[in-house]
Amino acid sequence: MRAFTYERASSVEAAAKAAASNRDAKFIAGGTNLLDLMKLEIETPTHLIDVNGLGLDRIEKTPEGGLRIGALVRNTDLAAHDAIRKDYSLLTRALVAGASGQLRNKATTAGNLLQRTRCPYFYDPNQPCNKRRPGSGCSAIGGITRQLAVVGTSKDCLATHPSDMAVAMRVLDAVVETVRSDGSSRSIPIAEFYRLPADTPHIETELEAGEFITAVVLPAPIGGKHIYRKVRDRASYAFALVSIGAVIQEDGAGRVAVGGVAHKPWRMEAADMELANGAHAVSAALMADARPTEQNRFKIDLVRRTLGAVLNQARS
Ligand SMILES: Cc1cc2nc3c(=O)[nH]c(=O)nc-3n(C[C@H](O)[C@H](O)[C@H](O)COP(=O)(O)OP(=O)(O)OC[C@H]3O[C@@H](n4cnc5c(N)ncnc54)[C@H](O)[C@@H]3O)c2cc1C
Ligand code: SF4
Repeated sequence: MRAFTYERASSVEAAAKAAASNRDAKFIAGGTNLLDLMKLEIETPTHLIDVNGLGLDRIEKTPEGGLRIGALVRNTDLAAHDAIRKDYSLLTRALVAGASGQLRNKATTAGNLLQRTRCPYFYDPNQPCNKRRPGSGCSAIGGITRQLAVVGTSKDCLATHPSDMAVAMRVLDAVVETVRSDGSSRSIPIAEFYRLPADTPHIETELEAGEFITAVVLPAPIGGKHIYRKVRDRASYAFALVSIGAVIQEDGAGRVAVGGVAHKPWRMEAADMELANGAHAVSAALMADARPTEQNRFKIDLVRRTLGAVLNQARS
């Protein structure tokens, strides 16, 4: 691990200012992803800004009837919160499907959204990887791709986004609230938050350098049946091969997003419109532009079958 300096930010403004004064600084929250990456020297910040003391660990009602989730709310606390379990149980289901109890006790809402890909080549500093070292090449192309993306890929990167929580946030149309390093604030709909890899796979979100997430806002509850189904190689403590987050209303209308298939949670409003026509129609719309490899072609079938199981569950 490379040497770094460390400070505890005393306010959001101080955190933003510290980030503005050093382009190689990183915020640290739970540290469950960042510290692993630092140990492997995949991330090499020269300065860490610890944001754990900023009081952003509350869940509050918004005037619009939704909830504002502080960036530092731990995954365990978010999953267990009464209002989340009652009105946004998709989020609870997605959270408890992720990582382990110990990790969820440390992991935060913002850190979860910003966790890096689990592409095995990204984690191997001896292999070329455009995401880790821009312009070095993509070892996954022609390599082992079973876990990797099938839609929204590019000639430069096939990585997936590994977060379960982000899939639920996409279904719920969450909004990410931030403060930029110049002190100005903005709200970014989750639909616009993540980028596809294109020819800049190292740029994963619309956040600017040093931009700090303060909260994630959920709109007013939408009712319906909330389902999160995760298919993986082991029953627990494994990332998704494919996951489906869905909210289905009594009349069969609803929303669906897929995890484990793209560089971001994969949702298409055109696919939502197909829900009344069944799993084949929805998955055909979602996977219309898929470009799988021989090793991960099975994910296309897996999306359709998992969707079928989700729609059966919704009807039961
Ligand atoms: C063994 C293992 C298994 C796992 N399994 C799963 C799984 O099945 N599903 C799943 O979804 N996840 C899984 N995870 C990932 C885990 O959920 C993430 O590591 C965790 O959510 C990251 O949160 P954190 O607070 O620890 O982030 P950190 O590691 O502290 O930070 C992550 C990134 O976010 C940035 N950051 C943090 N807070 C802010 C902020 N407020 N504003 C701007 N930037 C910020 C940091 O600078 C860093 O770049 C697993 C992790 C491990 C180690
Ligand atoms: S798929 Fe993306 S993360 Fe994986 S090796 Fe290629 S560039 Fe790196």
